[in-house]
Amino acid sequence: MAIGPTTPLTHDSAIIIVGGAGTIGSSTALHLCRRGYKDITLLDIYGFPSDYSTYGPSQSAGASDINKIIGTSNSGTRGEISEMTMDMWRNDPVFKNYYHEVGELSAASQPEHIADLRKSYEAKSSNRIKSKDLRWLGNRQEILAHCPHLANGLLDGWQGIWNEKAGWGAANDAVDSVGRELRKFGVKMVFGQAGMFDRPLIDEATTRCIGVITKDGRKHHADRVVMATGAWSPGLIDLAGQCVSKCWIVAHLELSEEEARRYKSIPVVYNEEVGFCFEPRFIRNHEPGKDRWIIKLCDEFPGYTRFMETTPFGAEEPIEVSVPRSHSAHPTDTVPEEGRRRLRRVVEVMLPEFKEREFVKSYMCWCTDTADAEWLFCQHPSYPGLYLATGDSGHSFVTLPSAGSQVVDLLEGKASAERMRRWAWRPGQGDSEGTGRGGIAPKDLNDLDGWAHGDDERAE
Ligand SMILES: Cc1cc2nc3c(=O)[nH]c(=O)nc-3n(C[C@H](O)[C@H](O)[C@H](O)COP(=O)(O)OP(=O)(O)OC[C@H]3O[C@@H](n4cnc5c(N)ncnc54)[C@H](O)[C@@H]3O)c2cc1C
Repeated sequence: MAIGPTTPLTHDSAIIIVGGAGTIGSSTALHLCRRGYKDITLLDIYGFPSDYSTYGPSQSAGASDINKIIGTSNSGTRGEISEMTMDMWRNDPVFKNYYHEVGELSAASQPEHIADLRKSYEAKSSNRIKSKDLRWLGNRQEILAHCPHLANGLLDGWQGIWNEKAGWGAANDAVDSVGRELRKFGVKMVFGQAGMFDRPLIDEATTRCIGVITKDGRKHHADRVVMATGAWSPGLIDLAGQCVSKCWIVAHLELSEEEARRYKSIPVVYNEEVGFCFEPRFIRNHEPGKDRWIIKLCDEFPGYTRFMETTPFGAEEPIEVSVPRSHSAHPTDTVPEEGRRRLRRVVEVMLPEFKEREFVKSYMCWCTDTADAEWLFCQHPSYPGLYLATGDSGHSFVTLPSAGSQVVDLLEGKASAERMRRWAWRPGQGDSEGTGRGGIAPKDLNDLDGWAHGDDERAE
């Protein structure tokens, strides 16, 4: 079978973004619009607005959350585009109302983790722009000077980096803001079952990807198809083990108005041995009397996989792939008992005042890791016209304003040779067991107790 070339890309080319309401997908659509492309269609199971209160949106998609850490990075492409990213969070009208620059403490207490943080601090400090916002906090007293709310916290041995110019982004609101902007540009959007990817539409003579077939059987023709389906990607297209999807657990604590006032504007506190938490956010609910103040917490650990036999497009027979099980499709799922214990520990260490308070909500949120934590942004080697924009590696929400510019550079052939090499299709370098992040291998959800998940094996 011949592998045919794609049609030339012009501003009138039809471009489909699958996962177009997620972080990388919506960002790609925004940058395409801003560069003058006129025929863009988003396909997604869940759409904008990502209304948190109704539990309707893609809960468990990386983008669907009340807050995410926003700060500079010094790793790979995300590090190189950090300045552009932060500039857009602060100044771009689509993003600036959703960024809260409250500062961030990134800490640890074990010597090897402190040494890693110190290395990262020194790398960032060698950058003239980043260095003035950073300080090394070497003891409890210095930490409390920036994070007084931790006065009763369990901070034994803590040291770390204080970043004045970091904070959090109101994730769902920022993505919705992108959605509103895309509507102004006239982007077509197909959400729900009708937007659910089934397989790419392939021209048999040339193996060119000429569109997408959705679950309802409809054919959507296009000159370029971008798969920005996050943790769902390896279950949809055979990625030859390059991405391993994993979940982490999110929990919500409800605060009274008085408590919320006391914790208002606290910095983001991240400890890689424990987890992280944010200042309280006021969440409006569509039902009267159900508005509430919520503190969001996450645990930090190697993540959980969920391996099962499935046949993604391109696989000749069923293969073992870690596939997400989303909270939106399975709202009664609970979380593993050991995960709940880790989250209780986050509260005990960082917010001891609330150590007896029950969570009002907990669920699993999914990402997909590459072995080197760099994106998988490339054209599929066997299907010209089919582009992959995935491999978020758990650190890509911060790039909501900028990731799409990189995907569009790739589509336009403008990405540097060095970036193309880093983002390339690179099977064999991955670890199909999913250790990707270093450290111990993740456990598999199938082996864990204490989480209720019925017997419904649906992947989505
Ligand atoms: C607990 C947790 C905390 C995190 N905290 C941070 C943080 O503080 N800062 C940070 O920068 N990053 C953070 N991340 C990582 C970040 O959320 C992800 O890296 C990022 O959102 C991934 O973006 P994405 O576009 O690849 O995927 P997503 O945003 O998940 O988007 C994928 C989209 O694909 C859609 N989709 C799936 N299947 C189909 C289908 N069959 N057909 C059509 N559409 C489909 C989904 O509905 C979704 O909209 C965190 C992740 C987790 C799990």
